[in-house]
Amino acid sequence: MKKLSKLDLRTPEWGSQFLIERTCPICDAMGKPYLERPDELITNLCNKCGTYFISPAPDYKCLELFYSSYHEKYSMMPKVSPEVLRVSYDKINPLADIRIKKLASLFDLSKTSVLDIGFGQPFILYMLKNLGAKTHGVDIDPKAIEYGHHLGLDSVFEGEIFDYQPTLLFDVVIMTDFVEHPLNPMDYIKKALSFLRIGGMLLIWTPNGSGEITKEEPITFRVDLEHMQYFTSNTIQHLLKEFNLRLLHFETIGQPFIPLAEKDNHKKITKWQFNLKQKLKARSAKMIKSFIQEKYETNSFSYEIGNYHLFTILEKQ
Ligand SMILES: [Zn+2]
Repeated sequence: MKKLSKLDLRTPEWGSQFLIERTCPICDAMGKPYLERPDELITNLCNKCGTYFISPAPDYKCLELFYSSYHEKYSMMPKVSPEVLRVSYDKINPLADIRIKKLASLFDLSKTSVLDIGFGQPFILYMLKNLGAKTHGVDIDPKAIEYGHHLGLDSVFEGEIFDYQPTLLFDVVIMTDFVEHPLNPMDYIKKALSFLRIGGMLLIWTPNGSGEITKEEPITFRVDLEHMQYFTSNTIQHLLKEFNLRLLHFETIGQPFIPLAEKDNHKKITKWQFNLKQKLKARSAKMIKSFIQEKYETNSFSYEIGNYHLFTILEKQ
């Protein structure tokens, strides 16, 4: 089996004692080993529903531990105060984001209630709020809740969606960069659908498993190694049947943001080389931060090129 080379600076060490065998997390069929990722986990392909998934995978406890320090160690979002975030967001035209543009074409947003599951830094909710929507969010991270309060969302809930009991049914439920993370994505999708009214819509934005599949070393399986499954168009077909949904929108779009791997650290280096390396490291961290902030400030989310993300909207019938 082909082993992919390292690309992402942030390669987790999972520990083989914490690995568990999995069947396909979407349809429960057996998978066929396909590629070995740089973190030594195996990407399998499910021949029944066409989903790529990791097995053996880190167990629930191992992932819980990983996510407890996720924002300090792994997240690439700039760590900014709620005040700074708000100032950055206020410079953005909401309709510059294709997901918001699409929702605005489907709904009168001034009469629309939206729930974002795992909203983190609540970019989408804040943009929708500025267009008149009622905005609600659920997140397990207290920092996300702090952002949500400061940005004036209508309601925020700290915790898992399985403990969330809203008093209304929503017009739109959003899961961006979410379904690739948990070991049991179908439980989350089922729960998300239960929050929708009939005719309401579920928006899913996730890495596209078949995006780079023809390439020698698909980038999708070399970055963000906390991802436990990769949806494809066939996965979406399976969801349509499984939950009796109607497909309203489907496209693949955009590129990943790649934090490059470190070169060989074992080579002896002189003191001045070490100092230079430290300086370059600091500069590259600064560049990543300004790159993301620039994206916020120039309204230029260049999603037009590439097919890294899978963007779909599914209607509950
Ligand atoms: Zn499957």
